Amino acid sequence: MAAEYYRLNKDKVGELFERARADYDVVAKTRDANGNLVYGRPATFDDVAFVDEQPPMSAKAFALPQTETLVRYEREDEKIRAEGPEAEARDVLLFGVNICDAAAFDIIDHVFKWDYLDDPYLGRRADATLFALACAAVQQDCFCDRISYAEDGVDTVAYPLEGYYLVKVQTEKGRKLVERYHDLFDAEDGDAEAAINTFREKAGTAKKEPLLESARAGLEKAFEHADWEILASTCIGCGICTYTCPTCHCFDIQDEGSAIAGRRLRTWDHCTGRTFTAMPAHQPRDRQYKRYRQRLLHKFWYYPERFGPLLCTGCGRCITYCPVKINIKELVEYFGGLKDTPPGGARHGK
Ligand code: SF4
Ligand code: SF4
Repeated sequence: MAAEYYRLNKDKVGELFERARADYDVVAKTRDANGNLVYGRPATFDDVAFVDEQPPMSAKAFALPQTETLVRYEREDEKIRAEGPEAEARDVLLFGVNICDAAAFDIIDHVFKWDYLDDPYLGRRADATLFALACAAVQQDCFCDRISYAEDGVDTVAYPLEGYYLVKVQTEKGRKLVERYHDLFDAEDGDAEAAINTFREKAGTAKKEPLLESARAGLEKAFEHADWEILASTCIGCGICTYTCPTCHCFDIQDEGSAIAGRRLRTWDHCTGRTFTAMPAHQPRDRQYKRYRQRLLHKFWYYPERFGPLLCTGCGRCITYCPVKINIKELVEYFGGLKDTPPGGARHGK
């Protein structure tokens, strides 16, 4: 659909949240008992953090939970009873989600509907409406300005302008949200796209050349580059980069229980882990740098080759939270030939 634009006065956001709770299972940013910013289910708007600050964990768990039961089974006499996952009871509204988290869903949808339709994931996606809040300033380590990921699958985006939010509606789900609470919204009759562009320039989130998509040709030539070993072997395989990432989606399947009863679980997995590709007699990625190289090349070469978009929205979390400060953006620039000097200075050389 063609985008539509509305105004939402800043003092109406709380009412929008409270009224939406009657129709949706509303997920929003809030503070946990330790004061950390998390995506959760605050009971009132007083507990909502309607801010552009990025929580350490992305929003992906609402479509791809960290652990979920795929099937439960139980033996009764000679029969086996099996039950799949229960469908969510209510539609979810992700309220105030960062754009980099919201746009990630469209990117990973490709893999969940590629050779097999992943019903649990796709069901949750179909039932979720995204109401994103644009960042008024770049976040720590974020480089969304260097990746041209599409945002048109984000149902609505609220841009905080002087005194009101300029709300851009991009999908039918977004339109339904605005129509439901239409008395809170006014039509925007100014040049909305010009206002958005100005906002993004000021925030530092407008796209800047060279985009990291242009590193692809260089990366394809750099698979055997000697510096991978030097630059990526500090990785300790902790998986923090993967778990905090909105686009990492690899999972493991495990069974637990007995012949009488049990369940099959899906859990997040990470390619930098030592056992990720281990087979009984062989580990094809036998060194840690190869595992890190896989993560980077999957995101910036293999995934776009198969599906189109980079498997990254530039949120920067994998840089911020990496305990050994590996910087994926700088590595893409270096191995992709956009910069001559490796991260950490010229000491490594080519
Ligand atoms: S790879 Fe890093 S910067 Fe890119 S989306 Fe994942 S966590 Fe964010
Ligand atoms: S790159 Fe950093 S965060 Fe990721 S697994 Fe390696 S050490 Fe952990």
